[in-house]
Amino acid sequence: MHSGPTRAAAGLHQFDFIGDHLAINFINTLRTPNGEPFEVFKTDKDVRDWLRRAGVSTPSKTANWPPGTLVRKARQLREVALKAVEAKKAGRRPFLDALNSFFKHSTSHPQLVMRPESKIEIKRIYRGRTVEEFLAPIAESVADLLANGDFELIRRCEGDKCVLWFYDRTKAHRRRWCSPTACGNRAKVGAFRARSRGHAQAN
Ligand SMILES: [Zn+2]
Repeated sequence: MHSGPTRAAAGLHQFDFIGDHLAINFINTLRTPNGEPFEVFKTDKDVRDWLRRAGVSTPSKTANWPPGTLVRKARQLREVALKAVEAKKAGRRPFLDALNSFFKHSTSHPQLVMRPESKIEIKRIYRGRTVEEFLAPIAESVADLLANGDFELIRRCEGDKCVLWFYDRTKAHRRRWCSPTACGNRAKVGAFRARSRGHAQAN
C-alpha cells in the first residue's frame, strides 16, 4: 500500500498540539497512540523538527555538540518535566533542582523587537552555545507551567492506556480526552457496544 510522506507525517504528528501548552505538548512527545509507546524524539533532527513545528525560535548558529546530545538532553528535560507535573498534580512537592541546573547552563539576554503598528515586543535571545540554551524556551515553559499553571485544569486524558496530558481551556472545563476523534471516539464506541450488549441481554 502506498502512503505518501505528507499523509504519514500528518498521522504521526496529529497529537503534537493537543496539550494546549508548549510544556505539555513537549511532555506529550512520548505517547501511546495505539496503546504502544511512540517516541517522537529518536534523533537530534526529530527534536529540531518538533521545535520548528511548535513555533519555538531557536538559534540559527549553534555550537557543534556531539551527535545525539540534543535528543538525549531533550528526553532528560522531558522526564524532569513529566515527573514535576505528576508530582504537582498528585499534591506532592516537585523536585526542582534538575530544572534549575538546566537554567544555570543557559544564559540569554532580552532584545526589543519592533512589530507591525509600532508594537514593541521583548524577545529573549539565546546564543545556542550550550545544548541547554537551545532547549531553554521549553525549560522556561515548563517553569511557567509549574509556577503559574492551574493544576485543576491540567489533566491526563481519560483514555485507556493513553498517557497524554492537556491544559483544559474549554469554557465549561469539562475536557476529558486528548482528542475527540481518538480516545473520545474510542470511549463512545465502547459505551455504544456496552449499551448494545445490554439491549441484547434485555431482549
Ligand atoms: Zn487520549
